[in-house]
Amino acid sequence: MGAWERRLADNLAGVSNQIAEAARGSGRSPSDVTLVAVTKYVDSDVTASLVRAGCHHLGESRPQVLWQKADALRDLPIEWHMIGHLQRNKIRRTLPLVACIHSADSDRLLGSLDDEARRAARTIRVLLEVNISGDAEKTGLRPDQLPPLVERIAQWDSIALCGLMAMSGRWSDPAQSQREFAQLRQLRDRLQTCCPAGTSLRELSMGMSHDFPLAVKEGATMVRVGSALFEGVDV
Ligand SMILES: *Cc1c(COP(=O)(O)O)cnc(C)c1O
Repeated sequence: MGAWERRLADNLAGVSNQIAEAARGSGRSPSDVTLVAVTKYVDSDVTASLVRAGCHHLGESRPQVLWQKADALRDLPIEWHMIGHLQRNKIRRTLPLVACIHSADSDRLLGSLDDEARRAARTIRVLLEVNISGDAEKTGLRPDQLPPLVERIAQWDSIALCGLMAMSGRWSDPAQSQREFAQLRQLRDRLQTCCPAGTSLRELSMGMSHDFPLAVKEGATMVRVGSALFEGVDV
């Protein structure tokens, strides 16, 4: 194992420990939180090394890059997560490769995802992306757009809605991030009451390199961590 591979494995162990500590610290089980390693900064070789080090949930924010890596690494045990904006004309090619889409942000996208999933005779796990910070530059649905959408979710019967995703405001301080994570959890709790029977908004995808322990403290079930995993890995 080369020096960078050792560093990568150490970083992974460090992040995993921080997740476990934050989970236990808030009375949860470490196994309630999935690390989704965001591999957008690195090539397929580094990505493969991360998988060999024991990380099996990977996220990419650009469909084309996800397609390339999924193909290059098709023999490895990976569950891919689409975490960035997905254009409707990229759905057909993306859907067969991914386990979960974190970034559904419109009726139209949900409709197209549903159509494609039905064509492929499967259901697709989907999270709704919420603009929780209210930042005009951020993507995602406004909180007030969610209740009417969730009430209609049963119409898209090849979609398994399983929770919410958000990014904390990029410049926000830790206290502000934590408030936003708490807001996402509370929004989820309220939405759960207007969900059709059989839909459980269990997943909260929130927290990135600079704030994932806080996100876990506030109930994250998936953290999307990129740069912290690749620190000191010279690529
Ligand atoms: C890049 C990215 C991340 C990871 O960010 P880091 O700060 O590098 O951990 C998480 N979520 C989304 C949607 C991203 O695009």
